[in-house]
Amino acid sequence: MEKEKDFITSFEKRVKDTIDKYKLIDKDDKVMVACSGGKDSTTTLYLMKRFGYDVEALMIDLLIGDYSKKNLENIKSFCERYNIKLNVVDVKQELGYSICYMQSVIKSKTRLNNCTICGVLKKWLLNKKARDFKATKLATGHNLDDEASTVVMNLFKANKKIILNLGPKTGIIEDERFVQRIKPLYFCLEKDVEKYSKFMNFPVLYEPCPCSFGAFRKTIKKRMNKLEEKYPEIKENLVKTFLELKLDFKKFYDIKETINHCKLCEEPSRNSVCKKCKLFGIVKEGSIVL
Ligand code: SF4
Ligand code: ZN
Repeated sequence: MEKEKDFITSFEKRVKDTIDKYKLIDKDDKVMVACSGGKDSTTTLYLMKRFGYDVEALMIDLLIGDYSKKNLENIKSFCERYNIKLNVVDVKQELGYSICYMQSVIKSKTRLNNCTICGVLKKWLLNKKARDFKATKLATGHNLDDEASTVVMNLFKANKKIILNLGPKTGIIEDERFVQRIKPLYFCLEKDVEKYSKFMNFPVLYEPCPCSFGAFRKTIKKRMNKLEEKYPEIKENLVKTFLELKLDFKKFYDIKETINHCKLCEEPSRNSVCKKCKLFGIVKEGSIVL
């Protein structure tokens, strides 16, 4: 019992220290937590409330069969239990199609996988909705395993822009249409988030999303877990090294953090047409919009 208490205290301290060290939240911020119903975002939501921030939950109902139904049920009961306002957005109402339909059309014409497609659409919708609900920060449940696997995946793909989204606080550029994203669980291992969520008895599903099969990230995560068993702290060391190199990396490759607005939807984008509109071009006309 004492051990359990110590774990909870040290886990919560790790999250609070990350928030304080990286100045993730100001006292007058309204924090919107992007909830999936899973352990990571539910833990983030709980801790934002427990630490006393002005917090609301935002859930995009992806309409992935029983999986989404159960997640929605869970987050509803969680928000009732902790007295948190829950905003639910229906993907079909917002985008006109179900996520599964868009994934199947796009996959038939490109080499993109389910999670890449879903990730782009969710990111676009979360920013738009967080802004509509007047949030000043958008918190996600990304953990250390997510970040470490992102670094490795990008290295394997020789993607030099890897550095742009790295860090507990992303989207530093000021833009009135952009809600800054923060990752309070940035230095927490996924297995610790799961342990915490189970100790706290959160109503969450621990099984994976049925659409995530075949994801490259999954393979990388599995391999990294094997390595971490043998060499503890490799994930944290990898991420910390890249954080320290961030500025040098940007200078060396002359990477500029500029932001435009998509000429089709007017949402913030690094290119003249955002990734979501490019995907929509494929769904609607079967062609890629450039
Ligand atoms: Fe979307 Fe992949 Fe997450 Fe499923 S696992 S919700 S497909 S990003
Ligand atoms: Zn767009």
